Amino acid sequence: MLKKYQQQTLAIELLNLHAKVKIVHQATGIPVKLLRQTYRQLHGRSPSRGSIKFSTRGLTGSHRKYKDVTIFAVCFQVATTKSTESQIQTLITAFNAYKKSYPLGQLEFSDAWVVAQDIKDKRVQLSKCPQCRSWVLLKAREDLADRCSVCKIHL
Ligand SMILES: [Zn+2]
Repeated sequence: MLKKYQQQTLAIELLNLHAKVKIVHQATGIPVKLLRQTYRQLHGRSPSRGSIKFSTRGLTGSHRKYKDVTIFAVCFQVATTKSTESQIQTLITAFNAYKKSYPLGQLEFSDAWVVAQDIKDKRVQLSKCPQCRSWVLLKAREDLADRCSVCKIHL
């Protein structure tokens, strides 16, 4: 019973963050139909049916978006280093830290989920520019060779 309670609490926390129903279902095992109902109760409208982005590269189309993703990646790395929580809890912690430290950031929770997967699976890699020490997220951009967005050197 306690486990069920924890899953329900987690589901509500995720839905409050506007996580996509598919992600909440995956994290909690709660039926999609029930999650959709709960989303409507919380937000007064139906959850969007848009699909989850395929990869981090799909999220970094502009310089601003790349910056959003990089800042989140830093928050996620910090949360991962400190955390003994479950993966999804670590992601929630990281996302809240991102929102708090960068209120203008437009990354959504479901996008953050995609970035976190890519970091875990080492498809993208957080690093520091050897010249100016700015954070850079390597292999995260579709078009360009990896460059520092501050001092512009190639990495
Ligand atoms: Zn640099």
